Amino acid sequence: MPFEGLTGRLQDAFSGLRKKGKVTEADVKDVMREVRLALLEADVNYKVVRNFVKTVREKSLGEEVLGSLNGGQQVVKIVNDELTELMGGEQEKIIFAEPGQGPTVYMMTGLQGAGKTTTAGKLANYLRKYEKKKPMMVAADIYRPAAIDQLQTVGRDLDIPVFSMGDQVSPVEIAKRGLDEAKAENRDVVIIDTAGRLHIDETLMDELEDVKAAVNPHEIFLVVDAMTGQDAVNVADSFNERLNITSVILTKLDGDTRGGAALSIRSVTNKPIKFTGTGEKLDALEPFYPDRMANRILG
Ligand code: GDP
Repeated sequence: MPFEGLTGRLQDAFSGLRKKGKVTEADVKDVMREVRLALLEADVNYKVVRNFVKTVREKSLGEEVLGSLNGGQQVVKIVNDELTELMGGEQEKIIFAEPGQGPTVYMMTGLQGAGKTTTAGKLANYLRKYEKKKPMMVAADIYRPAAIDQLQTVGRDLDIPVFSMGDQVSPVEIAKRGLDEAKAENRDVVIIDTAGRLHIDETLMDELEDVKAAVNPHEIFLVVDAMTGQDAVNVADSFNERLNITSVILTKLDGDTRGGAALSIRSVTNKPIKFTGTGEKLDALEPFYPDRMANRILG
């Protein structure tokens, strides 16, 4: 179960408080000390934790809360609201090309193993099913052995076309030709699977910048593995710096991730999480709702 540790610790922290009528300044301080520890233990970025705790504390020490008869519940509500805010507040929709200006172009980016290729397939499947789109995928990861085959297999499973030119043509060329092909075939969304690496390196970033310049994507999705916690946040920060990504897709939220990535990425990168991956199957992709996630974390 994801967030199990965090949820347990927060529930413990709030158990006494929920029942309280009037709360004192000392009650708020005690509980926020526990919340702070719980978030740090869940691998949330320390700056994010510091700001979060400060905001909640300030709001909780206001007249309305301290003077109220259900102060405990109000503090819990403030925590809930601020967790929602931390993850972006409102749900953010995916961006499509303006009518008549298509096709919509998406670039999938991320480190190797994050779930990029699988997520390309999941996204294509999602867009066909829920947005009535006609997607096409483009195999522009020419370095990882079998990446092209993997995308083709995903395409076959979903019955969604995959454009590929093998691994001897540059990713920029493949992306451009893929886009032409999509126009010729009347596909309205093009999802380009780009190369990943085990670690961020300059060559990779240069190449992704070139692909971006060549196809001018409507969205650059960064796919990150929620299980990697703080590392996921650092990866997102670096990709964002170089590529100015538009959105994050957080994968492996079906595992026992501690919560650090989900809670830190938005505030560190200022880019929204738009989807979460919740399994290996090609229908395991869900739009991300900050308020629902906050409720789930609080248990
Ligand atoms: P890529 O190297 O980034 O293209 O990663 P892949 O798409 O090959 O995925 C790496 C592994 O993670 C594969 O075994 C996927 O099945 C798995 N995977 C991807 N997304 C999820 C997810 O949301 N949940 C789980 N449990 N596994 C996932």
